Amino acid sequence: MARYTGAVCRLCRREGQKLFLKGDRCYTDKCSIERRGYAPGMHGNARNKKLSEYGMQLREKQKAKRYYGVLENQFHDYFEMANKKVGMTGENLLSILETRLDNVAYRLGFAMSRAEARQLVLHGHFTVNGKKVNIPSYLVKVGDVVELKEGSRSLDKFKGSLEANASRVVPKWLEMDKNNVAKVVAEPAREDIDLPIEEHLIVELYSK
Ligand code: SF4
Repeated sequence: MARYTGAVCRLCRREGQKLFLKGDRCYTDKCSIERRGYAPGMHGNARNKKLSEYGMQLREKQKAKRYYGVLENQFHDYFEMANKKVGMTGENLLSILETRLDNVAYRLGFAMSRAEARQLVLHGHFTVNGKKVNIPSYLVKVGDVVELKEGSRSLDKFKGSLEANASRVVPKWLEMDKNNVAKVVAEPAREDIDLPIEEHLIVELYSK
């Protein structure tokens, strides 16, 4: 199961914006974007660098991949899935990405970042419809019930994350009860996804 293992703050600096890949640190002045808000590398500080149309499309795709922690081949597979669905391909793509189990765990507040959520899923802390699922890319569907497995419910880690994320709004396609049992009640719609991604640029890139 391949994943990016380099310095994640470089990814934010490359995109020129916060991707919130590191949890707590992203909200402090230790964030690299706050301290060095220019692209990494020798020429990263060059100003007025105008991107070509292709460059803008490529950057948008890279940004989406980085938000969700997905590598190229899998991202392209998601695009193919989105393309086959009824509706706007770009919106379908984001909707599919949102339904990844690691993203769901993050959205519900069980983790401070998607990267952390991925680790927690890999370590088998979650069940879907009562069965343990340790595959971060598992796609939930309407009607699925997601919760912590019994042995994980009392862990301080989850209590701490849920407390710290209490102000984070759970998207309306998910419903979580007071026992932290969540149900997928709808497919994620574009307006439920608060990420600044211009998905039409990704569609244009893959349509070349
Ligand atoms: Fe990005 Fe977070 Fe690093 Fe800031 S601290 S550069 S938001 S990963």
